[in-house]
Amino acid sequence: MDNDKLFRLFQKLQDPPFQCINRKRKIRSIPKFSIDCCTFTANRRSGFIEYDPFLLEFLNEEQIVWILLHEEGHMRFQFERIDWNDNPVNNNDINTPDDSHRSEYNADMYAARKMLENFPDLKAYEIMERAVMANCYCNPKSFFCFLKKWLKKVCNALKFLSFESTHPPMSVRIKKTKEFYEENVLKNQ
Ligand SMILES: [Zn+2]
Repeated sequence: MDNDKLFRLFQKLQDPPFQCINRKRKIRSIPKFSIDCCTFTANRRSGFIEYDPFLLEFLNEEQIVWILLHEEGHMRFQFERIDWNDNPVNNNDINTPDDSHRSEYNADMYAARKMLENFPDLKAYEIMERAVMANCYCNPKSFFCFLKKWLKKVCNALKFLSFESTHPPMSVRIKKTKEFYEENVLKNQ
């Protein structure tokens, strides 16, 4: 995947018939002095979905579709204050690791829901692990990046006063996503 393809894919997901990313959303590569690297992120401060172009070579189209839908789930939660199932979100503060986990599960469910609705041949629970773990493959690319990742961990630890990961365990995320498919595919049979 290259930058041009990514932008086309992003736009495709905004346009009919999909319309699963808000038309006003914007995407850009991570600014040079950002603490983020080797990742896609829904930046609450800039309002952009940001990504590291380095990461693209480790991801295929399906994985990027999942990532973009997941980041859109974060954006909706944060800015429009609606959850994965279009219900209002009363509290979108992220002050603890638990808040962060709640936001991750919400983003996973949005990606699962939209993937099931728009790309029924793809299974989110099969695609998400590689999509999330791609930053580990990207890791050795530069020592600078390695340092940034540690700095990010320290910043999160200071912010949340905890070394607990801001992301829930992958196995739980996959399990929840699979349950969503089982419930909804069965319901429609
Ligand atoms: Zn996330």
